[in-house]
Parts: sequence; C-alpha cells; structure tokens
Amino acid sequence: MNLLAQLHACLLGGAVGDSLGLPFEGLPARRARRWAHGALRQRFLLGRGMVSDDTDHTVFVAQALLRSAGDVDVFRRVLAWRLRWWLLSLPAGIGLGTLRGILKLWLGLRPSGVRSAGNGPAMRAALIGCRFAYDSAARRTHVAASALLTHTDPRALAGALAIAEAAARISCGQWRQRPDPAEFAQVLTGVSENAQWRALQPVLAEACASAQPTQRLREALGLQRGVPGFALHSVPFALLAWYEGHGDYAQTLQLCVDAGGDVDTNAAMAGALAALVCGVDGIPPQWRERLLDWPHGTGYLQRLAAALADPQESCATNFSAGLFLRSPLFLAAVLCHGLRRLLPPY
Ligand SMILES: [Mg+2]
Repeated sequence: MNLLAQLHACLLGGAVGDSLGLPFEGLPARRARRWAHGALRQRFLLGRGMVSDDTDHTVFVAQALLRSAGDVDVFRRVLAWRLRWWLLSLPAGIGLGTLRGILKLWLGLRPSGVRSAGNGPAMRAALIGCRFAYDSAARRTHVAASALLTHTDPRALAGALAIAEAAARISCGQWRQRPDPAEFAQVLTGVSENAQWRALQPVLAEACASAQPTQRLREALGLQRGVPGFALHSVPFALLAWYEGHGDYAQTLQLCVDAGGDVDTNAAMAGALAALVCGVDGIPPQWRERLLDWPHGTGYLQRLAAALADPQESCATNFSAGLFLRSPLFLAAVLCHGLRRLLPPY
C-alpha cells in the first residue's frame, strides 16, 4: 500500500468501525450480542451509519496535521481550536474528561488537560502513527500534544502512544504479518514508563499466545460484562481485537461488538488498524456504502487522505460550520436509541 492508500484505509477503517459500533455503545456484552444477532450491519439511522466523536476528532487531527506541516506547536493550536468549536456544536456522547478538558481550553487554563485516564487521546492517535510511521520522534511529540490537550493522566497518553505505535508498525510493513506475542506485548507496553501500563506486558503476551486473545484478555482483566472507555482496558482490548482478527476487518469488528462497553471507540481504534492491513477494499462494501454522514463523510475522508499524502492536493481544513446543523440531528438519533433501549431484548 502506498501512503495515500494507508491514510485512506486508516481514516475510513476508523470511521466505519465507529459507525458500526455506535448503536451498541454502552451496552453490556450480553445485550450487545443479542442486539447484534445476525450479520453485522449499519443500523444507526434507518439502516445507515453515522459517525461520532471518534471520527470527528480524527478529522480534526487530520486538519491540524495539514495546517501545521510538521510544526507541533501549530498542530497543538489548530487542534485546540477545532476542539473548542466542536464543543460549541453540542456534540452528543462526549466523554467527561474530554468535556472538562475543552472547557478549560475555552477558559484559557493551563494545562487544559484533566487527570483522566479515558480513551479520548487513543481514539484520535492512529492517524498520527500512520502519518509519522517512519519518524518516531515526530510521532511521539504529536501524540503527546494531542493527548495533553484534554488528558494529563500518563495512562491516557500511554494508550494513545500504543495505538500510534501499532499504526506505525503496520504502515511500515513490520506488522503486515501478525507479530510474535512477546514482541507485540513488549513493543506496545514499552511506549510508556507508567507502572500500570508496563504491568500489562505479561497479560498481553499471554493473551496473544492463546487461541482466543480477546476472550483471554477480558477474563484476565475482569471485562466479561463489557470493555469500558478506561485507557488500560479499552486500548489493550482494541489492540488484541486487531491481533486476533489480523487482516480480517469484519472479524475484528465483530469481536468489538460482542465484547460490549465502549463499542464505538474500541471498534474505531481496532478498525483503523485492521484496515491498515487489509486496505479499503478489505472493508465490506455494504458497510462503506451505508456510511452516510456529513460533513465528515466518506468523500471528505478521502480528500483529507489525498491532501495528507500529497501537499499539491487541496482540501478544506476549516472547522466545518455544517457540524452546527448536523449535531442536533445526531443528538435526536442518539435520544431515539436511548428510548429504544428501554425495550427488549434485554
Ligand atoms: Mg464515540
């Protein structure tokens, strides 16, 4: 895959994962499996998929990368403004840590990040890994700049660094084949000095070496009821869903849905990584075609990828005012899902 194909796969793989996981967000594993019976399909709004904060933030990262051209201070500033405007569009389903972080951005408080170990920074990290696949220093500084805007807990940063590291290794071709369990665990836990993050190394290695890595991880971490948006749970799970389904996008997504919990973010992270292996063509066409969103739809994602791969390509990088129109519609759909959940199957 060339750079354009990789960037496109990363963006679209994440967005499709986000859209497929969204109807199951917050459901316990048992109920998510009951709701998802039969073939997995887009079902957020009348058989179509829409994207949530995971994709919005990744788009903002892409816009900031385009505006900054490698200057991390510009990157941080542009991303901070995208997040500020995004909050004003009243997005549904914003994480608490991210909400508090952006409020502090508006108030001009420093640091803006709050002490939360949520998966917010990790959900927007894959694209940075893909873009700076051959430049580990730039990859690290950009991931840190993005993460610290909203989260200062080292565990949140560790999760983001791990997702970016995996995306970089796949983009470089090192992990085109499924890596050895011990290497996989060592590389991904080696991104941070945090003791709790480091303690995951034997757990990851052991789970990867088993017949059902995600199942094994969920047992080891006590996540049978669901995989929450805690960085120490959500990120290892997404990485293992990628590992277990390696190269099979649909299987990777199914693992995320079946596990319940923060399904859309888990599926967005694992989906971005899976698509880096299988390419856009490996994402089932009906899932791509039925992802109908605006202004962060499939066409815009393709233009972003083209502009990131080739500076000669032009692409709008402003915050889209369309989000102010789209957010109320999205919120209404989310509320309908909330009401629907009062009904069976339980
Ligand atoms: Mg989301």
